Amino acid sequence: MLIFKSQSDNKYIYNQVDNNIYPISNDLDDLEITKLFKEHSPAVNVRFNGPEHGWETQGKSESLIINITDACNLRCSYCAYSEHYPYERKHNNAHISVVTAQKAIDEYIVRSEHMEIRRINLYGGEPTTNTNLIYQIVNYAKSKAKNIEFSINTNAYSMNNSWVSFVIDNNIQLQISIDGNQARHDKYRVAINGGGTFNRIKNNLQKIYDQSPIYYKENIIFLATMAPPYQLLELHNLYNCESLFQQPWSINFVRPIDTTFIDSIEEREHLDTYSKQQFILAKDYIEAAIENKAKEHFGHWVFGQQLKQIHFRDMDADSTEWINGCCTPGIDKFFVDSKGNYFPCERSGSFMKLGDVDSGLNMDNIQNIVHQYTVDCNEHCSKCPNLRFCDTCYLGSKRDNTLELERKYQFCSKRLEKLKLSLHIYVSALEYNSASFDHLDFFE
Ligand code: SF4
Ligand code: SF4
Ligand code: SF4
Repeated sequence: MLIFKSQSDNKYIYNQVDNNIYPISNDLDDLEITKLFKEHSPAVNVRFNGPEHGWETQGKSESLIINITDACNLRCSYCAYSEHYPYERKHNNAHISVVTAQKAIDEYIVRSEHMEIRRINLYGGEPTTNTNLIYQIVNYAKSKAKNIEFSINTNAYSMNNSWVSFVIDNNIQLQISIDGNQARHDKYRVAINGGGTFNRIKNNLQKIYDQSPIYYKENIIFLATMAPPYQLLELHNLYNCESLFQQPWSINFVRPIDTTFIDSIEEREHLDTYSKQQFILAKDYIEAAIENKAKEHFGHWVFGQQLKQIHFRDMDADSTEWINGCCTPGIDKFFVDSKGNYFPCERSGSFMKLGDVDSGLNMDNIQNIVHQYTVDCNEHCSKCPNLRFCDTCYLGSKRDNTLELERKYQFCSKRLEKLKLSLHIYVSALEYNSASFDHLDFFE
């Protein structure tokens, strides 16, 4: 149970067991509410389901991520492949071979027969350091199936005209890393020679826009990595002031564990600043939501995902759930590295190997880990108010290629703070306009 307030100071509780939000009298203090809740609420805990109930979609995969190359043309200070992350691979020049990529595509095509739209993402390193390989892989995949949508994660630092024409002609979505305005972006996202990269990337964005504004609007997504000192409001400003950046954004944080990058920074102080910035943004966003303008506001990209979960929460919630925040490895997606090994995703490193291009995907290898993880969630998370919304996954417990379950609990207070803020935004807007979040689309 979580007690929280709206902007107008009205009190509510969120009960994770029945997944409902209840207004409560402001005359009761938090201790009285907790006591009453314990007396009147049945002592039920939600149970997480794991692989012991079987993988419902055995034999199917929704998307494939291909690691084109381990090489990169930048040297971002917080990069997971830098010296700051001792357990991750390092920048090197390995590329996936065409034959290896073809084998992974063949396996994916067979496993995705149920999909109306198939999805292949190309990842790195920086994929554009080997555009010839991308041309071959895209052409091969297209020769195998017509219903594939491609996306590429890129820093957009190198883009000649033929590359721009290729992505436009093939309608390939570009997921481009931008951390903020020039000063913010150039603080950490630097070229091999150490120089800033923002201006060149912005010129490249303009090049794409000039060639096809329609393609740009429909296919450019920005990925921001938040690193101390956090500047969420500067990002908001960039979004408001420069039309090239008025696109979908995904906001992520520098990976905070197993790193010397964060250790070198006064993280506690910066996290407090980030919380304050979030509150300022939330206030502005609530006003926009009341005026039915939430979708156009930058806050949509910061808070929208969790608000969608809250808005579409199951009001007849069962007392069982799939383990919160976790994919079904290999089924939601699988990742092939440059050596042809399969993992759940691009962030897994060498953790949770699922097989390889020669032996195929073998989910049995992984069921043990998922089972262990589920047992632990049932022990610790099943009493937590955040159990239906928490986005931590197996990787929160990863150390190198082993599972250390206690690791994921070190950031729980931050996760609860995030849920409390989302609930606050939700009820604050709904008190004035019950349709504030009706624009959110369950399927988007
Ligand atoms: S562009 Fe990506 S892979 Fe390259 S150094 Fe930066 S964070 Fe690392
Ligand atoms: S980040 Fe976690 S939940 Fe998401 S695909 Fe990777 S392993 Fe699965
Ligand atoms: S916040 Fe912590 S205890 Fe709560 S569900 Fe998430 S990981 Fe589990």
